[in-house]
Amino acid sequence: MDKVSYYNIDLCYQNYHLVYNTFSDSLVCFTEEEYGIVQNLLLNLDKFLVEYPLLYSELKKAGFIIEDYDELEFIKFKNRLCIFEDRSCHLTINPTLDCNLKCWYCSTEYANAIHCGRMSEDVIESVQKHIAKLIIKDKIPAIHLDWFGGEPLMYYNEVVRPIVLQTIQLAEKHSVRFSQHVTTNSVFMTEEMIVDMAKLKFRSFQIPLDGNETHHNTIKFTENKQGTFKTIVNNINLLPQIISDVRITLRINYDKKTLYGIEEIIPLISEEAKKHIHVDFQKVWQINCDEKDKKRLETVKRIFNENGLVSGYWAYAPKKFNRCYSDKLT
Ligand code: SF4
Repeated sequence: MDKVSYYNIDLCYQNYHLVYNTFSDSLVCFTEEEYGIVQNLLLNLDKFLVEYPLLYSELKKAGFIIEDYDELEFIKFKNRLCIFEDRSCHLTINPTLDCNLKCWYCSTEYANAIHCGRMSEDVIESVQKHIAKLIIKDKIPAIHLDWFGGEPLMYYNEVVRPIVLQTIQLAEKHSVRFSQHVTTNSVFMTEEMIVDMAKLKFRSFQIPLDGNETHHNTIKFTENKQGTFKTIVNNINLLPQIISDVRITLRINYDKKTLYGIEEIIPLISEEAKKHIHVDFQKVWQINCDEKDKKRLETVKRIFNENGLVSGYWAYAPKKFNRCYSDKLT
């Protein structure tokens, strides 16, 4: 006996209904009229199978309709399989919890993070020893460093460089795949630093803009009240000129004002940079959005999309579970 997958979600987009299955990663698009019919048929699968056998079979192949099994248990099983099959290591490193900016919504502030400057030399050495153990003793096939903060590039020379240099050296010597990503406000980035980052195999960046220049600068400003909008836009445009295969996640943290006037950033991003960007709209977690804001978000996404700034995940981003440190302990 079949049933409808628990993981189907539907979304109204312009005059269409998109149905996405988050487990099988399948997407189907219906007109409103078609969707009205399909919705009713999904309530009576026997009738659906008799009346539209071809559509039924395609929806089943794509995972929208499934055999009667426990999907949650299957997901847990796939998670375990992935964790224990894949011995690659993903390390998130926070060189500091400090930041050159003071965004009002910053999670490190809300978490009452203890600000004590940068990672100490002792801790840097321990991280290096840990990476060396993973590569040499545990013989992992791949290592990914994920730089986070606070603002990780505050201590680029003191913390990031020595750890990356050692990791690249060891990874090359032991034929271990190496990759890394940095989540940064980018304000410390200069042309010289980007050239160095290219040599250190930085290819993936997440950089935020909090609206048009006026709104962004009310949130992301330096200690002496200088807005950071121009610096960030310049760095976004500069990155692909120096790192030809760079991927930039342009993170738009939106509150109730951000989405109004944000189109102004579109002409400021170069056509070349647009090819390297995907946009990730994320609501600031402390605020609530109403229906008007949600509609506005859909409109903004459409305008961005039509102008070469695509939102969503990187098409080639791996869709899999990540093994975390504690998984090794289970
Ligand atoms: S730039 Fe990021 S880390 Fe810095 S204050 Fe803003 S949200 Fe926090």
